[in-house]
Amino acid sequence: MEDYFQKYILKRNFKKTPEPYGTFNEEMGSSSFVVHRHDARSLHYDLRIAHKGRLICWAIPKGFSYNQSEKHLAVHTEDHPIQYISFEGIIPKGEYGAGSMNIWDIGTYKLMKFEDFDAALLKGEVKLKFSGRKLLGEWHLVKLKKNKDEWLIFKAKDAYQDKIWDNLLTLDLSLQPEAGMPDTIVPMRFKSVSNPFSDPEWGFEILHEGLRTICIKNGKAFNFIKDESIIADNGFLAERLSFISEIAPERAVIDGIIISIGENGLSSKKILTQIILDKAPSSNLYFYMLDILNFEGYDITTLPYRDRKYLLSLMSGKIPRLLFVDFLKGNGEVFSQEVKKAGVSAVLAKKLDSPYEQGESDHWKLIDLTNIDISDVSEPKSKTGPKPDAVRVTNPDKFFFPDLSLTKKDLVYYYNDVAELILPYLKDRPVHILRFPDGINGSSFYQKHLPDEQDDNFEFITVQDKEGEPPYFICKNKSGLLHLINLGSIDLHIWFSRKQSLEYPDWIAWDLDPKQASFFDVIKVAKEIGKILRGIGLTSFVKTSGKSGLHILVPIQPHYTYEQTRMFSESIGRIVANENKSIATVERNIELRKGRVYIDFLQNRRGQTLVVPYAVRPLPAASISMPLEWDELDKNLSTNMFTLQNAMERISRKGDIFQNFLNTKQTLEAAIQKLDAFVKSNSSSGQ
Ligand code: MN
Repeated sequence: MEDYFQKYILKRNFKKTPEPYGTFNEEMGSSSFVVHRHDARSLHYDLRIAHKGRLICWAIPKGFSYNQSEKHLAVHTEDHPIQYISFEGIIPKGEYGAGSMNIWDIGTYKLMKFEDFDAALLKGEVKLKFSGRKLLGEWHLVKLKKNKDEWLIFKAKDAYQDKIWDNLLTLDLSLQPEAGMPDTIVPMRFKSVSNPFSDPEWGFEILHEGLRTICIKNGKAFNFIKDESIIADNGFLAERLSFISEIAPERAVIDGIIISIGENGLSSKKILTQIILDKAPSSNLYFYMLDILNFEGYDITTLPYRDRKYLLSLMSGKIPRLLFVDFLKGNGEVFSQEVKKAGVSAVLAKKLDSPYEQGESDHWKLIDLTNIDISDVSEPKSKTGPKPDAVRVTNPDKFFFPDLSLTKKDLVYYYNDVAELILPYLKDRPVHILRFPDGINGSSFYQKHLPDEQDDNFEFITVQDKEGEPPYFICKNKSGLLHLINLGSIDLHIWFSRKQSLEYPDWIAWDLDPKQASFFDVIKVAKEIGKILRGIGLTSFVKTSGKSGLHILVPIQPHYTYEQTRMFSESIGRIVANENKSIATVERNIELRKGRVYIDFLQNRRGQTLVVPYAVRPLPAASISMPLEWDELDKNLSTNMFTLQNAMERISRKGDIFQNFLNTKQTLEAAIQKLDAFVKSNSSSGQ
């Protein structure tokens, strides 16, 4: 029966590719599907449908769209063995389909209209109903007549037709386990009470007073798991809150609060209790969505809170009495102050990267505002805006970038605007500065120490590099940041590790430095590194250096030593240099680089630094070290297209592309195993 896979087998050399040889087994998998993100010569998505022991495959260059009018080309390709459904890895260069292959979605399907898949294929009309993490509802594949391999794929009309579902395609839910609908759930609660605080890793929300319930939705039906503290009639509530059946996902478990709103515009438990006791015909009943635990039959409690909240945001909008309010990130002090003025008595602080935990959790904190004098909360800080009031700018009109007539004031104002994005990187890390007191054409000097150790905007720590060396410094807040800029430090250089775990870096870096090479080659090399990282299951980030190169970063848990991360960076650098000998090298000696892109892995040593994202570089163009989306690495990208003058426009349009960087804490063990397998498959092919 291996005839089925003859094409598949003939195209591949199984001594070289890690792909499964595959055997035929008709019993295996008949209702599963997988979509691979295949980062080959050109990126595409491979839809693979399990049917009678084989996978029926289409390659879809443009991916999927929930917009029915967007019909995308789908090329029917050779059947793959069923074992391919769980395959992830890197197909070595020179082999068929070389590049990384990752699971992008996985789930089950139902064939519609036709009884038998082969009949549907023959008819050229395959209608599928997906229950995936990303692909949901009915999708149609229709064969184009002219060419027998060319089909179109598009979304069919059903409950999942709204464009909000397109946002789902960007979330990574591929690892969330399937789960049935639960019978009981203990809602997550705060464990401790705190004073107002600010922390970029936390989000802040008003605490509403009402009836906390867990809502379980299944099709149009739903019911509540009740909080026992209020006696409530489930049937009455379900009737009054019937709009819940319109919430977009067919199946969901939502943690929420039923609230009523008083005259002051705030939730009122008193009014709610009265409505419930009277069974009054009131429309003053709202469902406020707090969190989501299950999405379309997948348990998502281990996703970070910020992603669950994002998913909730996709579900809200059209239903008037269904409420969703986003958290405010970071500045809990100002938030507490503002909502207290509006009469709110408590705020909930939630850790943005935390899972959903049943019962009391340290990832939730109550901020009780009743006994807090709002004038004590904190000094008001201007969030953005033209006037940095946190620092006095000395010599504000001095030209720092004379070619562009940009002054020191312009520089300080830029950092004032972008401070919210930069401060999370400065938290707990020693900073080194390169000062240009007279602008980029003046003299400069490097500093690891600050003269004034009394300044409250900084923390001073001993890193024990050399005996007798003065302490290093950590910038604690916006005033400190602007103070450093005012000292003439145009960019900021941060350690890879934090004071709590100084010997264990939080990321691994590859610094691509072109020198004589073209930026086009830098892009090519960066994409190769990106491909391998993706292939071994690591999420990576890329930014321009702001000079002439690119920085690739893999955020990790602070568990590995600098020596270990340096070795990891080196092995990937060597693989890529070896596979791209004409354009890439790990050779330190500039002459021996011969115009090739230098993959610098030595940045991963203790005490080395990274230019903080969004920093301005001391160059005539006032270019920025700008976070990029991987898809932006193409011929349109140039090294100094992002500048002090246009950066804020881009940031307000794109948001913070590195938003998840500091929350992505990856481990390396599985990646190293996959890398080993890749190296072995490569070396066996080298002979
Ligand atoms: Mn493919």
